[in-house]
Amino acid sequence: TAGLLIIGASYAGMQLADAARAKGYTGPITLIGDEAAAPYQRPPLSKGLLLGKQTPEGLTIRAPAYFAEQRIQLRLQVRAEAIDRVARRVTLHGGEQLPYEWLVLATGARSRPLPVPGGDLPGAYGLRSLDDALAIDAMARTARRVCVIGGGFIGLETASALRTRGLEVDVVEAGAQLLGRVVPPEVSDYFARLHTEQGVRLHCSAVVEALQPGADGRVAAVLLADGRRLDCDAVVVGIGVLANDELAQAAGLPCAQGVLVDACGRTPDPWILAAGDCARFPNPFGADPAQPLRLESIQAANDLARAAASVIAGRPEPYQAVPWFWSDQYASKLQIAGLGLPGDLRVLRGELEQGRFSLFLLRAGRVVCVHSVNRPAEHLLARKLIESRVQADAAALADPDFALKSLLE
Ligand code: FAD
Repeated sequence: TAGLLIIGASYAGMQLADAARAKGYTGPITLIGDEAAAPYQRPPLSKGLLLGKQTPEGLTIRAPAYFAEQRIQLRLQVRAEAIDRVARRVTLHGGEQLPYEWLVLATGARSRPLPVPGGDLPGAYGLRSLDDALAIDAMARTARRVCVIGGGFIGLETASALRTRGLEVDVVEAGAQLLGRVVPPEVSDYFARLHTEQGVRLHCSAVVEALQPGADGRVAAVLLADGRRLDCDAVVVGIGVLANDELAQAAGLPCAQGVLVDACGRTPDPWILAAGDCARFPNPFGADPAQPLRLESIQAANDLARAAASVIAGRPEPYQAVPWFWSDQYASKLQIAGLGLPGDLRVLRGELEQGRFSLFLLRAGRVVCVHSVNRPAEHLLARKLIESRVQADAAALADPDFALKSLLE
């Protein structure tokens, strides 16, 4: 019988299945995914797993018994290839057809390939899946020198882990700053200093022209547009992701680098929803709440999936959570609440040099975003300040004796 069919067995898919049951959906739930491993945590792939502090088994999100208890059929190594919206069924690789009442696209995103000659040479790794992380871990056991391409979160976390393991690491970033798209200059400078102190060689405003193979056919050097050549034993590419929205596109659903949905995860097809990294949705905490955003985070995947599950349960509750995110590099934990813009007023609280601070971003007098480094309590307060859209005085925020909590009273 047709029930709830979810394509993609990761955060969004798992949360969807879980929340649909919790909200009272009693029909059959089928969760299909094309990976071999049961749903697992992705953030540790570039953190604890690469550092040898976590094992693949330890990343499992739910024990096998959970699926039986909740009557969720989990089918792994199964790939959905087409959606027939009229007949309401999905065709799998191999030809099997699955009918649905409700269909959820939770297909996530994939690593953007490096678009240069040699970009896919052996020895050049992307990092999205458990298999990718295990391949990088194996490489790091023998490689001495690794070049990381992309100074975003994935690239920098990988650089941090590999450097901690004693490898020589170069980071090549096309922009003028690390994390340029996502953090203000103070935070970016902080992480640049941190990596440099740890012995990572940073190359900003550096454009990769090609990867060059050695005699064995494996990558042996990164060639930059300014003529420089960085010798290496391997390359890790972290230059962003592409939303897996091809299934939706082929089914005629509106997409714009991500499946376009409303704040409840609804596509224009009344029986099809989407959530997670593959979805683009209007965010009440975005600069323009009407402008749909694609947020690549566990928080956004979980919260939009819960909103979509509420539609299936018959009591729609739109997404309204404050976005938050984190990144661990060496001993520094960065936590971000809210969404900032380059024009926001920036107010520093704490000691930037010592790596214990929060940077508050104000827009029209309101706290809209806070970047905290090793300030977990302030991060939690920041989420509340942003959620309650409080007005705050810059001088007060900067004063270490001023109690942030008082703003919530
Ligand atoms: P995904 O996790 O991408 O899962 C989608 C699943 O669908 C995949 O298993 C995919 O193979 C499968 N799939 C795709 N197409 C099909 C198909 N046609 N048929 C069947 N299956 C299909 N976020 C944070 O908030 N904090 C962090 O610190 C953080 N660190 C990260 C570190 C790494 C190395 C990576 C890769 C990501 C990190 N993220 C982090 C991002 C976070 O993991 C993603 O936002 C989250 O995984 C999104 O979940 P999702 O379910 O939407 O998609």
